[in-house]
Amino acid sequence: MGTFKAIRIDKADKGTTAALTQFDEAELMDGDVTVAVEWSTLNYKDGLAVTGKAPVVRRFPMIAGIDFAGTVAQSSHPDWKTGDRVVCNGWGMGETHLGAYAEKARVKGDWLVRLPDGMSPREAMAIGTAGYTAMLSVLALEKHGLTPNSGPVVVTGAAGGVGSVATAVLSKLGYHVIASTGRMSEADYLKGLGAAEIIDRAELTGAVKPLAKERWAGGIDSVGSTTLANLLSMTKYGGAVAACGLAAGMDLPSSVAPFILRGVCLLGIDSVMCPLPQRKLAWSRLASDLDKKKLVDITQEINLDQVIGTGAQILAGQVRGRIVVKIV
Ligand code: NDP
Repeated sequence: MGTFKAIRIDKADKGTTAALTQFDEAELMDGDVTVAVEWSTLNYKDGLAVTGKAPVVRRFPMIAGIDFAGTVAQSSHPDWKTGDRVVCNGWGMGETHLGAYAEKARVKGDWLVRLPDGMSPREAMAIGTAGYTAMLSVLALEKHGLTPNSGPVVVTGAAGGVGSVATAVLSKLGYHVIASTGRMSEADYLKGLGAAEIIDRAELTGAVKPLAKERWAGGIDSVGSTTLANLLSMTKYGGAVAACGLAAGMDLPSSVAPFILRGVCLLGIDSVMCPLPQRKLAWSRLASDLDKKKLVDITQEINLDQVIGTGAQILAGQVRGRIVVKIV
């Protein structure tokens, strides 16, 4: 057994340390599939893990990274054989199970999704957990009954990872997308992704009224806190908001008014333990409903040795769109 390159998180006297180093293959955790990882990505949660800003990592040593695309190197799982191209995200990778910022990962075969036809491993990770979560949010709104004819849809944190993919997918599906951002300088970028209107995030951070003027039929929110509360109070009768993030905070200073007086629904989105059938559906819809040209515009590439520094930037809200990480 040898070693491989990985971003290792260790416990320190105060908090944690993160370093790109060699990891001993003998330390890999149990799993029935070993994957040669080719691409990973930088998500908000990865930023928290590599900087130690929040207790994302709950096992030490840990390899950070919550998602990867790669090729099966060894398998004793009936569904997978050497050479299969796979995508994996969540399931505690980078938190309780050794993660994706590594040349090798050993995981349960039941966690894996086949790389969709026509999608490269790099494209899959350009989408990554953030993009897949955006698609889970779209699926939840569709299940609620939302269609482009229902009215406009608002996307918050629009210049971020979830927001950029949500904006691109919703506009391709024919929705009138209102993109909310704190970076008005990114208005052209967001219009390029298909946003019909851009609003300043400050419009959604004021005092929350139980009910405000109805502005949209639906929303995808990666911000939480006062922003989500305002979104709900501005949602039209019978509409729905998919809540998937907490970039501004975990609280929700709302009232029951939107729910009991307008029949508004709050749809919770979790990507980590999401069941396999829903994952497969989300990845296949991403293959058909996300314009590849827009994905190129959304994506920046970094190497493994840039992950820790860029992790601090994503927490500071300084990263636009998605970051794909080249592993080898
Ligand atoms: P990004 O950092 O790429 O995007 C977040 C965006 O939110 C920023 O780009 C910024 O957009 C906006 N934002 C940041 N800080 C604030 C603030 N203080 N107030 C208002 N807006 C702010 O992160 P991701 O897109 O990767 O993730 C977004 C959120 O979704 C995170 O909280 C993440 O943990 C969560 N998430 C949850 C998942 C789940 O399973 N439920 C899965 C994936 C992500 P702008 O500049 O345009 O305003």
